[in-house]
Amino acid sequence: MTTMTKSPAPSRTARYLDEAERYSAHNYHPLPVVLDRGEGSWVWDVDGNRYLDMLSSYSALNQGHLHPEIIAAAREQMERLTLTSRAFHNDQMGPFLRELCEASGFDAALPMNTGAEAVETAIKMVRKWGYEVRGIPDGQAEIIVCEDNFHGRTTTIVGFSSEEQYRDGFGPFTPGFKLIPYGDADALRDAIGPNTAGFLVEPIQGEAGVNVPPDGYLRETAEICRENGVAFVADEIQTGLGRTGRLFCCDWEGVRPDVLIVGKALGGGLYPVSAAIADAEFMDVFRPGDHGSTFGGNPLGAAVGRASLRVILEEDLSRRSDELGTWFMEQLRAIGSPHVEEVRGKGLMIGVVIKETSGTARPFCEALQQRGILAKETHHQVVRFAPPLNVARADLEDALMEIAAVLS
Ligand SMILES: *Cc1c(COP(=O)(O)O)cnc(C)c1O
Repeated sequence: MTTMTKSPAPSRTARYLDEAERYSAHNYHPLPVVLDRGEGSWVWDVDGNRYLDMLSSYSALNQGHLHPEIIAAAREQMERLTLTSRAFHNDQMGPFLRELCEASGFDAALPMNTGAEAVETAIKMVRKWGYEVRGIPDGQAEIIVCEDNFHGRTTTIVGFSSEEQYRDGFGPFTPGFKLIPYGDADALRDAIGPNTAGFLVEPIQGEAGVNVPPDGYLRETAEICRENGVAFVADEIQTGLGRTGRLFCCDWEGVRPDVLIVGKALGGGLYPVSAAIADAEFMDVFRPGDHGSTFGGNPLGAAVGRASLRVILEEDLSRRSDELGTWFMEQLRAIGSPHVEEVRGKGLMIGVVIKETSGTARPFCEALQQRGILAKETHHQVVRFAPPLNVARADLEDALMEIAAVLS
């Protein structure tokens, strides 16, 4: 793979890095690479170096960069109508929500833009359902969440994070959330009280380091929720839309959540599109004026969402993710690296855990960048590999050689 070998950061890259350093808030710690072009699984930097994108913008690019069908849909829609607000109807939102409901098997969907907004939507939905349907006393509804969760960055959401840095300096926080250990169904059973309205959970915790819960955890917790009249809310913003080898990660255990939250790849890497999806029992708690978003359900986003979903279904990206992911994980384990504690994941959502004695994951990601592979550490010890789901097997084979070199 000589075409992927890098020289040290030259001046164009350095100039952009300086500018970003000077003018941006320092709320991220990106790898020192400045990209200006993408196609499929590949991106190029401002100095013309090519990289395999093995992050896919945290799984917002399951369909790859600049998917022609998604770009065409966006382009066509952009020349017709982009925004109506929800004060008026448009001809894209209805078909988009119908297609989303047909694919997921629910009655209705409420469109938003970012993932965090869809999570907030689900929280409001479950609380109001708790009061109106379950009869929880006013102001008492409680939602159970898991340690090491990541559901976004709004003040309400970071308020129930167990990660000190996400919270530190941002309080006071919204009350009404209770933390339990992830992967422990008994902990949920013990935590449920008379005012518990919902259980909000990631089927696999992505940002926490690709934490895969024990087999049966989703089925068991969903069952506990059902027995107790508690809403089971699955945040599939990262795990959904094919990423783990099924359309939704809950499908692995035959679990149908009460509320399903999607985002990221629903926008095809082009435009922020998210939704909270549920049956009428939950969705009907919303009445005109209860909730909304200026851009949510706009015709451009809806057209992009339709194309993004169609590509995932038509290209059978869930099956691809399953096959490639199973094989890729086996190959990663076969490297037998002395630095690797564990390789874990499902489909093409894979975490390589670096042993503490070998330092953090960051230098490994920097070394991969030098070899033309973009991956990002998550939570210090984990290198996450999550390429677009239509990545070519041959490109993954080439990448494996570079990864093996870096891990050895
Ligand atoms: C990315 C993510 C979010 C937040 O989505 P944004 O679009 O960044 O607001 C929420 N939940 C999960 C599981 C995520 O991975």
